[in-house]
Amino acid sequence: MSDEGEAVVAAVAAVAERIEAERSHLTDLDSAIGDADHGGNMARGWAAAAEAVADIEDPEPSEAVKTAGKTLLSEVGGASGPLFGGSLVFASTELEDGITAESSVAFAETYLEKVQDRGDARVGDKTMVDALVPAVHTFKKSVEVDDMTPVEALAKAVAAAERGVDFTVPIRASKGRASYLGWRSVGHQDPGATSTLYIMEELLDVATEHVDAPDGLPDHAESPTIPDDEVTED
Ligand code: ADP
Ligand code: MG
Repeated sequence: MSDEGEAVVAAVAAVAERIEAERSHLTDLDSAIGDADHGGNMARGWAAAAEAVADIEDPEPSEAVKTAGKTLLSEVGGASGPLFGGSLVFASTELEDGITAESSVAFAETYLEKVQDRGDARVGDKTMVDALVPAVHTFKKSVEVDDMTPVEALAKAVAAAERGVDFTVPIRASKGRASYLGWRSVGHQDPGATSTLYIMEELLDVATEHVDAPDGLPDHAESPTIPDDEVTED
């Protein structure tokens, strides 16, 4: 299994576990301004995606992402299945030559572009786009302008997504089911923006672990610069 493919499989498993843990919270958010199915939709979809990617023999990163996206598309109904799943399928092609700073930015931008193509939502419509736009812009700027590593940039992006989620609370929904409520949607946090944040937090966790454990290093490598007899026990 390629190291990067393995990281993608681990990321999908981590997302599935997190979404399952947040299932009732996501459902509560969706019951306030929607139809109370977001937790169930996402938990079912990501559990199936985790199974599907675990079944791929020797997965390449793009293949694993595409499989996860296709599974979400077929398992998750409603507005969010095509938005999460379809966008992952499209964006997966950006990872065909592996995961680098450049390909990660391309992946993030294509994902956002597809969400907006399909859903036609803009910042301020109280959707997942309110978390994604600041996250993707921050990620791109952190890599391209501020020269951060992808993991540092992802940490910045997660913080931006968190602010985006907070921003959904005081605004009125103009897209999706919540828009039927008009002004009554004000004061409630958007479920899709919230699940988007959870997914990003898990990606950051797995990416951090992946970078901290480079290929070929044993789990408990001794520092080559400090002789063993100079290491004091405390
Ligand atoms: P449904 O609304 O069909 O019940 P879900 O409850 O699974 O689907 O997902 C609701 C979430 O989908 C919303 O919280 C919002 O973030 C997102 N959403 C809905 N419509 C759009 C849209 N047009 N563009 C982007 N995101 C949207
Ligand atoms: Mg719903």
